[in-house]
Amino acid sequence: EGKRLQQHCTLFDPELYQQLQRRKQLSADLPKAIRSAELIAVYQPIICARQDKLHGAELLCRWPHPTLGMVAPDEFIPLAEELGLIGRLGELMLEQGCGQLALWQQVWPHLMLSVNLSPLQFRDPELCERIQACALRHGISPTTLELEITEGVLMENADEIEQNLSSLIQAGFQLAIDDFGTGYCSLAYLPRLEVATLKLDRSFTRDLISNAATTAIVRSVIGLGHELGIQITAEGVETQEQRRWLTEAGCDRLQGYLFSRPLPPQEFGRSYGLSDT
Ligand code: C2E
Ligand code: CA
Ligand code: CA
Ligand code: CA
Repeated sequence: EGKRLQQHCTLFDPELYQQLQRRKQLSADLPKAIRSAELIAVYQPIICARQDKLHGAELLCRWPHPTLGMVAPDEFIPLAEELGLIGRLGELMLEQGCGQLALWQQVWPHLMLSVNLSPLQFRDPELCERIQACALRHGISPTTLELEITEGVLMENADEIEQNLSSLIQAGFQLAIDDFGTGYCSLAYLPRLEVATLKLDRSFTRDLISNAATTAIVRSVIGLGHELGIQITAEGVETQEQRRWLTEAGCDRLQGYLFSRPLPPQEFGRSYGLSDT
């Protein structure tokens, strides 16, 4: 009781103040960072479990801030969403990603690129046209682009969203459900929507070996996916034990620090024999 009272009476909390200052600075700097393409793309390999070879890469955003150092997307993506900048950020990333993919596909034509889309981008009625135009500009087949959406997109019941989703599928893009199993979403969308991939959230991979219920859930998700013709990617694979278990359970693709952290493009190219130029 005394402690609560004390907390309540604190007028100045230096830690909270610093947090607010940092947020203020990031908000002030983000528009220019996007305008001047200060944000950069890194690439994390996605491995085909059975053949133990590269399947594709996930495009992830980084912000090397001039004074604050590297800022993580968990911090600036929500800000970009709040500030109405996520559409432009998404375009910037897609542009970098497609340019890079075009180079890598000269060496390996079937390499896949997975791109994260914010639910807010689906409010843009021109989303599909924009993505199509970008792919076309770089000579990339839509079938080699996988668009990652969260179940949050499917829970909003808006016309633009439905329209965008069906246009994207019709245009030949692959659809992946990101962080699968963490949303409060029913599975009713699965028969209606042509989903190519379920990305099993990394919390399941983490608890796989230690928790019997998690083990059962993961087995069921793999079975469910396969019955529906959907591929399963496990996120956050960090140990050989997890890798072995998932591969034996029939999981199609693996992603995680065990294979590699997200890498700058030159390093990714070097590691996987895709060296550009
Ligand atoms: P996500 O889409 O679920 O991406 C996977 C995150 O897990 C990445 O964090 C990745 O670095 C991290 N990760 C990969 N393997 C492991 C592992 O083995 N262990 C652990 N602990 N983590 C692992 P990152 O790059 O910090 O991105 C965080 C989130 O920010 C992403 O989660 C995604 O939701 C969002 N994000 C990143 N880039 C973009 C972007 O360009 N656009 C949008 N809309 N969102 C993005
Ligand atoms: Ca993702
Ligand atoms: Ca994820
Ligand atoms: Ca996530």
